[in-house]
Amino acid sequence: MRKIIYPGTFDPIHNGHIDIATRAAKLFDTLEFVVAVNVEKNPLFSVDERLELIIESTKHVKNISVSKFTGLVVDYAKKSDSIAIIRGLRHVSDFEFEFQMAIMNFHLNPAIASIFMMPDEKYIHLNSTVVKDVIKNGGNISAFVPSVVNEALLSKYSS
Ligand code: ADP
Repeated sequence: MRKIIYPGTFDPIHNGHIDIATRAAKLFDTLEFVVAVNVEKNPLFSVDERLELIIESTKHVKNISVSKFTGLVVDYAKKSDSIAIIRGLRHVSDFEFEFQMAIMNFHLNPAIASIFMMPDEKYIHLNSTVVKDVIKNGGNISAFVPSVVNEALLSKYSS
């Protein structure tokens, strides 16, 4: 059983995340989204809301599952019998941080591989902050997020 985990904040999940996850899921038996519980980013959505949005957005892909984690990603990978961590790379600016993390993760547990994947170019400029900013200011983001996420964002900002 070859399992990979896809860690992140996912506040909220968008089509760039889904693009990476669905393509990576074809290369492994199982892909598990793991949502970071302890984030310093002050997320808009609670952990449970983020989990639910990922579940709803990926339910069409049979070998994708969703969990949350605290602590070190490599420890979670080991505990969940995963052989690798996948991360998305959009720009050179992502590279520096991801490179540092991958080297540190290798030091912490060399048995867990770090794998990087680029999204389809239409998602290369997409991130969760841009998604929230556009919708907060009345823009239409429906081409870049699943409809369930679009609705959740509209209801967050209308309340
Ligand atoms: P972080 O993990 O840095 O808090 P996210 O939860 O937004 O950020 O992202 C989780 C993972 O998804 C990271 O590897 C990030 O690089 C990747 N990612 C985010 N947006 C995109 C995108 N538009 N295309 C491909 N990968 C992305």
